[in-house]
Amino acid sequence: MRAHADRIHALLPQTQCTRCGYQGCRPYAEAIAAGEAAINRCPPGGAATISLLSALLKVDPLPLDETCGIEGPPTVAVIDESKCIGCARCLPPCPVDAIVGAQRQMHTILNDVCTGCELCLAPCPVDCIRIVPRASLSTPSAEPTAESNLRRFESHEARRTLQEAERRRLLDERKQRVSRPLA
Ligand code: SF4
Ligand code: SF4
Ligand code: SF4
Repeated sequence: MRAHADRIHALLPQTQCTRCGYQGCRPYAEAIAAGEAAINRCPPGGAATISLLSALLKVDPLPLDETCGIEGPPTVAVIDESKCIGCARCLPPCPVDAIVGAQRQMHTILNDVCTGCELCLAPCPVDCIRIVPRASLSTPSAEPTAESNLRRFESHEARRTLQEAERRRLLDERKQRVSRPLA
């Protein structure tokens, strides 16, 4: 079952956009492997991914389920830097760490890394992030590959796990200090 899910996962685009209704490509792959999800729920992969999944699983291809989204040209996020207030709220949700900037500084997007997943839009309090076709950029770069998306997502997750462990350690330390009886 695990090996089966791995083979399905290897065919997904790794944007981690959640449009399939799962929390990322791995949970969607596991749901397909368990027979709980159809093969047509990934808009970034579109018809090409459906065809690969259909061949792997020996099932009929289906049209993309448009309740998940529609297939379109590659997109990329762009920040209107004149409106950005440097709050940094867009940084943690970006699965591939495509946004650079620090608190109280303007933020910008690494075009060659951004997958257009749109996960940074909702957290921005001033709506200064737009999604545009990659081809409309003045210097369009190639779309990132599934392999590079996955590599960047894994390092994003590893860093988040470390940060969470450090946060818990500091919290425990503080609790112990507060509960220690006065000498
Ligand atoms: S890229 Fe496809 S499989 Fe991965 S999270 Fe997005 S919709 Fe789901
Ligand atoms: S910058 Fe925004 S659209 Fe681009 S990958 Fe990150 S979260 Fe997704
Ligand atoms: S969330 Fe919006 S305002 Fe805040 S740093 Fe990101 S782009 Fe700038």
